Amino acid sequence: MGELLSKGDLVVGLDIGATKMMAVVFNNKFEALGQCRKRSRKNGQTAEDRIRQIIREALDAVGSPPIRGIGVGSPGPLDPKTGIIIDTPNLGWKNFPLGDTLSKEFGVPVVVDNDVNVGTYGEWRFGDISECEDVVGVFPGTGIGGGIIINRKLLHGFSGAAGEIGHMTLEVDGPYCGCGKRGCLEALASRIAIAKEVAALAAREDAPYVKANCGTDIENMRSGAIAKAIENGEKMVEGVVRRAAYYVGIAVANLINILSPEAVVLGGGLVEAMPDLYLEEVNRAVKEHAMPFLRKGVRIVPAKLGDNAVVLGAAHLIAKRLRAQSKA
Ligand SMILES: [Zn+2]
Repeated sequence: MGELLSKGDLVVGLDIGATKMMAVVFNNKFEALGQCRKRSRKNGQTAEDRIRQIIREALDAVGSPPIRGIGVGSPGPLDPKTGIIIDTPNLGWKNFPLGDTLSKEFGVPVVVDNDVNVGTYGEWRFGDISECEDVVGVFPGTGIGGGIIINRKLLHGFSGAAGEIGHMTLEVDGPYCGCGKRGCLEALASRIAIAKEVAALAAREDAPYVKANCGTDIENMRSGAIAKAIENGEKMVEGVVRRAAYYVGIAVANLINILSPEAVVLGGGLVEAMPDLYLEEVNRAVKEHAMPFLRKGVRIVPAKLGDNAVVLGAAHLIAKRLRAQSKA
């Protein structure tokens, strides 16, 4: 994939999540040398202090060597040009200059981008589709995130926040979404949307396996538990998930019609728990809703990197930035 870094150059990839954070130190071949992974929140510690500590501990694990740069995937909305996080209530950030803060602390360049963008980028760069010019990533989990790569570059758009695939409107009068609008893909097909329906099935005694193993509390209905219920023959639960997966497929079909990507990566907790079901329903929806000429030859592939997609993508993004700066 071309040499972005020279021998001995080290970079850090950082994945900032609402529940966990991970920093990994990579060498010039993007091999992980050391890492630190912790829960995102600790009483009495700000998110930025937590992040400093996690990066320091990842570096300490390999003897605190000098590094060339830090790549960051963070929840948005954010401005990738300035590294400013616009609003992330979970972490207590409003117009917070994350890029500058880390750059001052560690004395190196920092790139910041949306976590799902970075995850898509990582899956593209380090998966089986790295030769594709145009790629779309869709990640259904607790919410639904997406990323778009056009001409081998992440698409940011006018606002910097392009790629909010989870908020594509699919039902004009559909259920309310966390964003305040109605009928978004996320309101129809996220894990929370699925869990809400599955909880109702359990409460009505239509899903005995779920009732016995998870009760009727939405919080207990993790992707793995839902997958187990389907494996144990809960047909109505399967119907709920297939419908949600089909909605994801409709979104993918729309994206294929608009962007004509060569590959679509499907990841996130739900797809990881039920890859075959998701691939089947998404392929079915694409066949039914994407234009034949545009869908021809498009590869729809499951994500491969799991929890490592964001740190790898972030490390590659900062390596690319460093390379561009050294040429300038
Ligand atoms: Zn929405």
